[in-house]
Amino acid sequence: IIVTLRDYDAERLAAFTKDINAKYDELKARNLTLDLTRGKPSAEQLDFSNAILALPGVDDYHAADGTDCRNYGGLTGIKDIRALWAEALGLPVDNVIAGDASSLNIMFDLISFAFMFGTNDSERPWRDEPKVKWLCPVPGYDRHFSITELFGFEMLHVPMTDDGPDMAVVKELVKDPAVKGMWTVPIFGNPTGVTFSEATCKELAAMDTAAPDFRIIWDNAYAIHTLTDEFPVVYNVLELSAAAGHPNRFWFMSSTSKITHAGSGVSFFASSTANLDWYASYANIRGIGPNKINQLAHAKYFQDVAGLKALMQKHAGSLAPKFERVLTILEERLGDYGVATWTKPKGGYFISLDVVDGTASRVVELAKEAGIALTAAGSSYPLKQDPNDRNIRLAPSLPPVSELEIAMDGVATCVLKAAAEKAAAS
Ligand code: PMP
Repeated sequence: IIVTLRDYDAERLAAFTKDINAKYDELKARNLTLDLTRGKPSAEQLDFSNAILALPGVDDYHAADGTDCRNYGGLTGIKDIRALWAEALGLPVDNVIAGDASSLNIMFDLISFAFMFGTNDSERPWRDEPKVKWLCPVPGYDRHFSITELFGFEMLHVPMTDDGPDMAVVKELVKDPAVKGMWTVPIFGNPTGVTFSEATCKELAAMDTAAPDFRIIWDNAYAIHTLTDEFPVVYNVLELSAAAGHPNRFWFMSSTSKITHAGSGVSFFASSTANLDWYASYANIRGIGPNKINQLAHAKYFQDVAGLKALMQKHAGSLAPKFERVLTILEERLGDYGVATWTKPKGGYFISLDVVDGTASRVVELAKEAGIALTAAGSSYPLKQDPNDRNIRLAPSLPPVSELEIAMDGVATCVLKAAAEKAAAS
């Protein structure tokens, strides 16, 4: 039988508290400044792609079809990089467009355009709807939720399972015509690391929705970001939804942000022809065309899908030992106490840590006082409100392993201290 902290009698809890408080005081005395907040690539990972800084080259600015990439135009991006990306993700090249550095910018555009003008399937602009509701699998990506918050959409929580969002809940909620869409991170999700099963992908593609203009933002930010030597299957949801009679359902996103250099990469938007035409009708007023020089640099740098995958294996080589260390420290320090559970992702950038209910914000506060910056408690929920005050998103990528170890050991101390405080109070 495992005796968890919650089952300790008063005497044992007092002894434990004394011990953990001493550990915490030692931690504070170290005056650390460590940061586990954002899922940024490390300097080592950024160095992998330094060669791209010299591309496409002073005499080398033509795309394969002869396009002079130095000039204006080409709203959908150059075929060199679109074809490579389409092949990598198993999509038809004609349904993939390449943009500027940020896929998040395109997501913001899509929602803005739908809000101002309506989608190609809308009866009216979303701003003229009495209410717009949006499905938010939780925990999820904070910046997604910030967008739908900004537009005043009512965000409905959908619990995550190991196979993706709880589809029974989703299918019930989409019976409401005010529900216009849904956020998803289908592969190695932020922050759970969950990859949607084939059955979930098919159900999302095939389900009936009351809103004719229901859209799923299929944010495949981590589609090839494996931590092992295996790459996940990328389901062609465009094809699945077309076959099910909902050809315009998916807005499929991805980018090179955590592949080459974050903030100076290439973003991609894949969708039905009708959706791409709708997007272009506004995008070509918003701008004259994307940075084709950078697109060409990326095409030349990757060369082909094999080159892209080889780079992803280098990232895995850098990231996997960090994830491994975090998981080992969590197990060693917390495993015996029944005070936390955590995900063991096979890809992506995050470990999602669930602590004793009602203590996540206390853990983050304790860590902060000890000089360890964690993502604010609640960040992975709409309006930054975790109803159980339970979830903490850990981002192991940025610090070197030596710092990561110190930080994680410190976090474990904070988790135990907060749990002991809670146990003593109840
Ligand atoms: N989507 C998800 C799920 C992310 O985690 C991130 C980066 N943290 C982004 C999008 C941002 O992508 P981009 O750099 O292409 O805007």
